Amino acid sequence: MTLLHDDGTSVLTTTDPRDGSPIASYPVSSADDVRHAVYRAREAAAWWAGLAFGERRRVLVAFKAAIARDAKALAATIARETGKPDGDALLEVMLTLGHLDWAAKNAEPVLKRRKVKAGLVNYNQHATLGYVPYGVVGVIGPWNYPFYTPMGSISYALAAGNAVVFKPSELTPGTAVWVADKWREVCDRPVLQVVTGGRATGANLVRAGVDKVAFTGSTASAKKVMAACSETLTPLVAECGGKDALIVATDADLDAAADFIAFGALGNAGQTCVGVERVYVEQRVRDALVDKVVERAKRVVVTGDAPTYGPMTLATQTGVVAAHVEDALARGGKAVFGGPESVAERTVSPIVLVDVPEDSDAVQRETFGPTVVINAVADLDEAVARANATDYGLGAAVFTKDARKGERIAEQLRAGVVTINSVLGFAAIGALPFGGVKGSGFGRIHGADGLREFSVPKSIARQTRKAALNLLTLERSPKDMHMVERMIPMLHGKAR
Ligand code: NAD
Repeated sequence: MTLLHDDGTSVLTTTDPRDGSPIASYPVSSADDVRHAVYRAREAAAWWAGLAFGERRRVLVAFKAAIARDAKALAATIARETGKPDGDALLEVMLTLGHLDWAAKNAEPVLKRRKVKAGLVNYNQHATLGYVPYGVVGVIGPWNYPFYTPMGSISYALAAGNAVVFKPSELTPGTAVWVADKWREVCDRPVLQVVTGGRATGANLVRAGVDKVAFTGSTASAKKVMAACSETLTPLVAECGGKDALIVATDADLDAAADFIAFGALGNAGQTCVGVERVYVEQRVRDALVDKVVERAKRVVVTGDAPTYGPMTLATQTGVVAAHVEDALARGGKAVFGGPESVAERTVSPIVLVDVPEDSDAVQRETFGPTVVINAVADLDEAVARANATDYGLGAAVFTKDARKGERIAEQLRAGVVTINSVLGFAAIGALPFGGVKGSGFGRIHGADGLREFSVPKSIARQTRKAALNLLTLERSPKDMHMVERMIPMLHGKAR
């Protein structure tokens, strides 16, 4: 939790969501502080971009190794700031280092300058395409996965040759500062810097002259960031919220589906952008699935020394969860496990809702809590139509034993990523780009597309000899133009 930082005070103090005890205080970076960081980053960016791919790779792999050797300390910092169990935090570290490794090792093959075909008519041109860094990337991150999520931008931006100024969530600055300290252990240049503070500091970063902004957070904040970016035509990648649907076909392995629904909906207290918030199940297996999900929800422990998940990191989110549940019930939905009484001051026990009207908040808006709506559908076409009928489009999942059917449904779902017979199965795959459509944002992190997201394509065409047809001149000859007239139907006149 943070105190008073957005109203002009100079310090923000974090607290442990598990017991409210203060953790540490951090400066609120002013507009001048942020500009200074970007100024330093610009110098560092020139140096970093000037290194060969292999040299950057060596620094990034050393960075990864330094973090890995101290992974438990980082996990403890994440756990303290977010309230999540230590094991969850440690998994977050492992997942993130996999991406850092992938980005470091694939930057050269993906981004190095390559020859492209110039085509018959341009036989006298040697054409190459390379990807050059933007310069300084401003990264703004959320609190729910305070290492994994921003590092999805940071790792790929650094590997592509940019310097980064990172503004973490006001709830989790300690994780970011820890990471920046590790950077300084492996590199004495300010290629990665952290500025701390709240929304105002984030807004300062957007306006501090960065060459690209990588924003991860709510859709509402993304719109404000995009408006600010438009003032300077600063490009933006926006990773926003979701309302992921999971479809269960009659032929699905219901135990596996229920396991993954419980994990995807309740894990991390539901505070996962690609968490499962809605389930559409074919009518015939609806009761069996609901029973199995409830069975698993009953086994969840939210108090004591070894909870399944922690408290809500953002205390005010309990109000959103309660409002969505109450709205669902008021409109005729039913709670088959838990209910409004499951929402305590800081902790929310699992809530399983069924038969919730499609236009209610629990179906249409991001709840970001350990709740799930299970609605029956007549068939898979209806499931797909309902899954696609929200303003979001981040992730989705489908459960079926029929691989072809699964792939077909995956193609029909309007989402950036779809998993078949699992949830979050993509998250550790370095080669798969990640990002949303519609209100879930645009642009991609991870994978080759993630590396290109933080690069500018730069084309070079080198003339190797004089062209037979001299067309690039103010004094074209009638003979050459006659040749052009004959060439057009020859080159493009056939419709195939
Ligand atoms: P948030 O939008 O409140 O804040 C995110 C970050 O943006 C914070 O660092 C905040 O200080 C900063 N910020 C807010 N307003 C700003 C502004 N006007 N200008 C500049 N910076 C600003 O989101 P949150 O509560 O921290 O995170 C939860 C949200 O993030 C959820 O919607 C979740 O789905 C989403 N999320 C998305 C992904 C993804 O990859 N798509 C991953 C994790 C979380």
